[in-house]
Amino acid sequence: MSALRDEIIASIAQDGPITLERFMSLALSHPTLGYYMTRDPFGAGGDFITAPEISQMFGELLGLWAQEAWRAAGAPAPAQLIELGPGRGTLMSDVLRVARITPSFLAAMQVHLVETSPVLQATQRRTLADAKASVSWSADIASIPQGPAILLANEFFDALPVRHYVKTPRGWSERLVGLDEAGALAFGVGEAIEPDLTVDAPEGSIIEIGAVGVRLMSEIAARLVAQGGALLVVDYGYTQTALGETLQAVARHAYVDPLEAPGEADLTTHVDFAALARAASAAGARVQGPVTQGAFLERLGIVERAEALSKRATPAQAADIAAALQRLIGTDEPKRDMGELFKVMAVTHPAMPDLPGFVP
Ligand code: SAH
Repeated sequence: MSALRDEIIASIAQDGPITLERFMSLALSHPTLGYYMTRDPFGAGGDFITAPEISQMFGELLGLWAQEAWRAAGAPAPAQLIELGPGRGTLMSDVLRVARITPSFLAAMQVHLVETSPVLQATQRRTLADAKASVSWSADIASIPQGPAILLANEFFDALPVRHYVKTPRGWSERLVGLDEAGALAFGVGEAIEPDLTVDAPEGSIIEIGAVGVRLMSEIAARLVAQGGALLVVDYGYTQTALGETLQAVARHAYVDPLEAPGEADLTTHVDFAALARAASAAGARVQGPVTQGAFLERLGIVERAEALSKRATPAQAADIAAALQRLIGTDEPKRDMGELFKVMAVTHPAMPDLPGFVP
């Protein structure tokens, strides 16, 4: 059923087990069969729904935040407005619409979307066809021109591959994806011991390490320290590094086995904000937050914004606005409210003052 699964099985049969990082990277970004490379997974008919797709309020408030961060950086011109993993382009479209209230911001910004998926790049081009800004695309951040930058990353870090280490009697060993006796994909544990991992934990414990995200954070933080600006990270995750693993696979809004159908389910992990914050601080950047998405959006005025929109709405539209508000800032996780599960963190030049949303 999954062409990519057959390909991975064949390669493991020939060359041996692969790391989870490699498996996730293939499942998500294999050039022709990777999950994001072949489809638009968002929305009610897709696999999952994200905050900008829930309501325009999310992107509008992040757009106001971006303008404030740019002002706080001294209103540099030109400057880069960069989005990592822009999905359908909805967030950037809302950000650029509210940017019209600050013509100097709009005039200063060169917009760059960092996106590996050709399918989603095409969707983003359609979404942003009428945007009043110059927009360019690249597959990685390294090729974006230098200079002060405001960066936005919503549900981006959760999509980066991670490594798992398992506590064995001899120490920590990397968790691998291999084949079971029936020839199906199965988790196993490597022979080699990781000498650098010295965390004390019971046998069988797992540690999850988002090395790709940490490396990227170090690069972005170094850029912000050298050239000025700010990065806003919004994602589901936790604020203290902890034992345990959070790998999950989602297809059509339901959890599935992560090894079952690589390329056909979204694979993500919860983001270790503490690890990202350590990487940013080590590079000399200032870290603000993390705070919960609920607190962040309330401080940016989402309740007032919802009231203003509702005054001009039909009763059905007002009910949609109320439901979206609840989903974005509410705390009922079984109902998939995002207010507490999602966290917001800013990484900035060290001289940046407190930014909106991070102070009560
Ligand atoms: N921010 C969007 C989409 C989140 S899904 C939203 O909130 O709706 C993750 C996005 O990151 C997708 O656009 C995916 O194609 C992209 N992506 C995943 N891995 C990436 C990588 N290594 N480099 C660039 N983009 C990546």
